[in-house]
Amino acid sequence: MTPATPSPPTFNRVAMIGIGLINGSLAKVLKRDGLADEIVACSRREETLTRARDLGIADRTTTDPAEAVIGADLVVIGTPTGAAGTVAEAIASTLDRRAIITDVGSIKSKVIDDVLPHLPFRGRFVPGHPVAGTENSGPDAAFDTLFVGRHCILTPIAETDPDALATVRALWEAAGSRVEIMTPAHHDQVLAITSHLPHLIAYTIVGTVADLEDHLQTEVLRYSAGGFTDFTRIAGSDPVMWRDIFLHNKEAVLEMLGRFSEDLSALQRAIRWGDGETLETLFTRTRAIRRGVIAEGQAYQRRAAVSDRRLDED
Ligand code: NAP
Repeated sequence: MTPATPSPPTFNRVAMIGIGLINGSLAKVLKRDGLADEIVACSRREETLTRARDLGIADRTTTDPAEAVIGADLVVIGTPTGAAGTVAEAIASTLDRRAIITDVGSIKSKVIDDVLPHLPFRGRFVPGHPVAGTENSGPDAAFDTLFVGRHCILTPIAETDPDALATVRALWEAAGSRVEIMTPAHHDQVLAITSHLPHLIAYTIVGTVADLEDHLQTEVLRYSAGGFTDFTRIAGSDPVMWRDIFLHNKEAVLEMLGRFSEDLSALQRAIRWGDGETLETLFTRTRAIRRGVIAEGQAYQRRAAVSDRRLDED
């Protein structure tokens, strides 16, 4: 039986573990719409917590995750994915038995593997990933419309309670997202090609430029408006977050990278042999595909064209 969807959900106390761009933006939604009586933010650095209080997105703050979750009916893990397991271990003994635990990590299988063993009540765990972001980090980068019109992918585990799933779904819908349900493995595969590979290529190109001789580098800066800036904007994204994504979605990324490398080699060969027909055929096909993607409003290229500020991430 499909459970009734609570819409929009309300919470007594929400614990935000990590209060950067994503959790900060979600906290702004909760505050704006009065969905939480109290928001407790937890972060490593006092400096971050001070900003969270000053911005009005946290009622109370602490550097201790175990303390943060006491009495919370919703816990949102919003740290880099590599820290999710440590956070779960830290909060396990103070979690309320009815508390829903969710996360916003950009990869799912590894986060689930790391978090699950520590959770005393597995049915309350609803892994999630809002596919929305910018290249900026920290609570100052947060804004309450970040999730509007964007997908949020939930990857429930076998034990996830239907009511916990429905509540988290309703939360993201209240934030303006279109919620999709997927298996964690499928999520990681899809994101490997739609997000992780483009980031890897952007990082690589910027790295290649950095290794150029000085005079060429100067020319790149001078003429960077011609595609380079747009194409490499995502290379400004947070290094720790992206380190974790590549380390923890290794198999899916390597699979997609293998396919990409083969296709790139084919293009390399076509250029070497002056095979204009191959190049034109491919470019014609890809232009049609990209236009189709834009028309459907599903790809982040469309968003980049609408707003320079917002990027699909993750
Ligand atoms: P962020 O702005 O850099 O904020 C990260 C928060 O986590 C900060 O409060 C930070 O604390 C804390 N933190 C960092 N390392 C930690 C550690 N080792 N242990 C405990 N806390 C730690 O990051 P974000 O962009 O919001 O990303 C958070 C999560 O959302 C990541 O898992 C990412 O994969 C996912 N995500 C990101 C995007 C995006 O575009 N950025 C999009 C979708 C999903 P301090 O500031 O005190 O150091």
